[in-house]
Amino acid sequence: MFPGSEWRAAPAGPTGRPRLYLTFDDGPIPEETPWVLAQLAAYQAPATFFCVGDNLVRHPEIARAALAAGHRLGNHTQHHRSAWNTPRATYLAGVAECAALLRGEEDFRVGGYEGRKVEGYEGKGVGESDENKVLLPHPPTLTPSYPHSPIPSYPHTLKPLFRPPYGRLTWPVLRALRPHYRVVMWSLLTRDYDLSLAPERALRLTLAATRPGDILVLHDSRKASRSLRFLLPRLLAHYSARGFEFGLV
Ligand SMILES: [Zn+2]
Repeated sequence: MFPGSEWRAAPAGPTGRPRLYLTFDDGPIPEETPWVLAQLAAYQAPATFFCVGDNLVRHPEIARAALAAGHRLGNHTQHHRSAWNTPRATYLAGVAECAALLRGEEDFRVGGYEGRKVEGYEGKGVGESDENKVLLPHPPTLTPSYPHSPIPSYPHTLKPLFRPPYGRLTWPVLRALRPHYRVVMWSLLTRDYDLSLAPERALRLTLAATRPGDILVLHDSRKASRSLRFLLPRLLAHYSARGFEFGLV
């Protein structure tokens, strides 16, 4: 499914220990993400956060904290729209907007936040220059992090990461993104977002399905909170006790 996208990762690290890859979608938000970072820190487990641009605008300091702790950030679009019912140009503009935030571009404009200065951002405030009235959309690029970047998410040598909201892609969107991004999907959904699934059952199902090399999806979102807070500490404890280590996708 979707050639060129990634559904699993290396089953073992350099030391031969079996590996799992934790990913968190939809943050960063103050209600959940700092708690997630504390849980990961307790196990020295690195993880990848697929961030929504709207949340990056509001909480860049949480994204910076995640980076400082050794985690990785990926692009989850600006407004979390589905590729299935969003015009292609609009969808790709949302990817580019989020990419600009992750790159920490000097000038960027964010729909709905025009004229509002991003907290902690040292560059020019959004909307301060008439020259940049229509900065977006622009094609995603592999531009390396800027020295003054508020959220310098990618080392120069890494291709940026992208994960589509709802896991939904179309062929034209995938074709447009593939040259510029590693499109990272998953092999194991914890279903922490599923309010009809008891967290205890989500845990049992997840543990039973886990194989080395799995890319797990959790959500640092309000909706998933109850299940996330049940699952994450137990998953970390369980996997660590069984000799798994955690890798970055
Ligand atoms: Zn999502």
